[in-house]
Amino acid sequence: MRKLEKNELITVAIEDIGFDGAGIGKKDRYAIFIKDAVIGDTVYARIMKAKQNYAYAKLEKVITPSSFRVTPKCEFHRQCGGCQLQALSYDKQLSYKQNKVRNNLIRIGGFMPELVDSVTQPIIGMDEPFRYRNKAQYPVGYSKNGCLTTGFYAGRTHDIVANTDCLLGDERNKAVLEAVLAYMKANNVTAYREQAGTGLARHIFIRSGFYSGEIMVCLVINAKNKANLPRQQDLIESLREIPGMVGLTLNYNPDKTNIIMGKKMETLWGKETLSDWLYLREPEKGFVKTGESISVKLSPLSFYQVNPIQAEKIYSLALNYAQLEGKETVWDLYCGIGTISLFVSGKAKKVYGVEIVPEAVCDARKNALENKIDNVAFFAGKAEAVLPEKLSEGAKADVIIVDPPRKGCNAECLDIMIKIKPKRIVYISCDSATLARDLRIICENGYELKKWRAVDQFGQTVHIETVCLVERK
Ligand code: SAH
Repeated sequence: MRKLEKNELITVAIEDIGFDGAGIGKKDRYAIFIKDAVIGDTVYARIMKAKQNYAYAKLEKVITPSSFRVTPKCEFHRQCGGCQLQALSYDKQLSYKQNKVRNNLIRIGGFMPELVDSVTQPIIGMDEPFRYRNKAQYPVGYSKNGCLTTGFYAGRTHDIVANTDCLLGDERNKAVLEAVLAYMKANNVTAYREQAGTGLARHIFIRSGFYSGEIMVCLVINAKNKANLPRQQDLIESLREIPGMVGLTLNYNPDKTNIIMGKKMETLWGKETLSDWLYLREPEKGFVKTGESISVKLSPLSFYQVNPIQAEKIYSLALNYAQLEGKETVWDLYCGIGTISLFVSGKAKKVYGVEIVPEAVCDARKNALENKIDNVAFFAGKAEAVLPEKLSEGAKADVIIVDPPRKGCNAECLDIMIKIKPKRIVYISCDSATLARDLRIICENGYELKKWRAVDQFGQTVHIETVCLVERK
C-alpha cells in the first residue's frame, strides 16, 4: 500500500473523535487525526506528518458538514487550545464523553461491557455550557507587533493572541483586563518577557463567586515586593468601579518558570479571601437545590472547583453514593479546602480530610469553623502517609471518598485503602484513564463496581468528571 506523503491532499470521512478532540478518519491502513474536523464531516485535509499506520493532517475545507456541527460562538476557537469541541453540538459532546469513560472502564479497567452498562447512570450535562468558569488566568505580554496585550496562548505555543472575553468565563473579566491594561499603559508598566525573564506583569488571575457575585483580582508580578509598581492607587480606583469587586492582591513570582503563581501574596486593597457558598442538591429530583448550603472562603492559592454549579452536583452525587446513616467515619482524601468533608459532615459521625497543600488545609479548617461544623478534622500531608499513620493511632474508616488530581491515586494509597477494608469507596475522578486503572486494582482486591456516572464540568472541552461507587463484596 502506498505511503502517505507530507503535503498530500486527501478527502476523508470523519468517523470518530480522538482523546484530544481531533476528528479521526480512515484512509487505507492509516488512522488520520485532523484537528477541528467534526465526527460526521467529510473534509479536505493536508497531510502534515505520516507515521507507520497513522497520520496528522490539517483541515483545509469541510466538504460535507456533519449533522453534529454547530457554529462556534468564539471566533478564536481554532487558534486557542482551550475549547477542543466548540464546533460539536452539546448533546454530541455529552455522548462522546460518556463513551470515553465507558471505553476506558472496559479497555483499561478490564470490566465486562455488560457490567459497565448495567451500572451506568446517564451523564449529567450543564444547563448552560458557556460562562461557567469562576476562574481565569490571563497571561500579559506583547503581541507579534510589539503591543502590550492579554489574551490566550495560541495552541501549543506561548504566543499571546489578544482576547479579553473568553466565553467560558465571567462577563466582568473583560472590564478587569481592560482596566489593568489601561493602567499599565498609562504608567509604563512593562509586561513579562518569558525568554529574557524581564518585565513586570506576568498574569492576571481573576476569581469570582457565582452566588456571592464577588470578584477578586490577583496580579502576578515578576518581583519580590511591590516597590516597582507605580501609582498603585490608580489601579485600585479603576478596579473598584467594577460591580462586585472586593479585593486586589499581588502575587510575587520572580522565578523563571512557567508555573503561574509564586508562593508569596500581599493584599493591596480589600479582602484577602473570596466568599461564596455551595448548595446541596437532590440527585433523585433532577439535582434541584435543597435549602442546605455551606459557605466557603478561599485564598488565591487554594484549589477550588472551577465550575461550582456542576461541583454541587458532583458532591451531592458522592454523598448519595456514600449512603451514610450517620454512624460512619468517613475519610475525604485529596480534600482541597474541605468542601466534600463539609458536605458529608451532616450525615456522618466523623469526617477526616487529607490534603497536601498547607494553605488549603488552613482554608478547610476556617471553613469548618465558619459553618459551625465540629465533627471534621483536617490533616496536611500526603494521603498515602497520613491515612496509615492515623489508622495506626486507632482511627476507623467506614467509607472513603477520594478526589485525586489527574494522575489518580498512587499505588501505596490504593494498597492502604484496600487493607483497611472500608464498606464503600466513592471515587471522584477528572481523568477516566487513571480512574479505570485504579478501579481495576480496587476491584481485583475484594470490591465490586456498583455505579458510575459522568458529570460534565467542562463544556466545549474534552475533559470529563466521573463519580463511581465500589462496594466490598
Ligand atoms: N476535593 C477537593 C479537591 C480536589 S483536587 C475539591 O473538590 O475541591 C485534588 C487535590 O488533591 C488538590 O487540592 C491537591 O493539592 C491535592 N493532592 C495532590 N496530591 C495529593 C496527595 N498525594 N495527598 C493529598 N492531597 C493531594
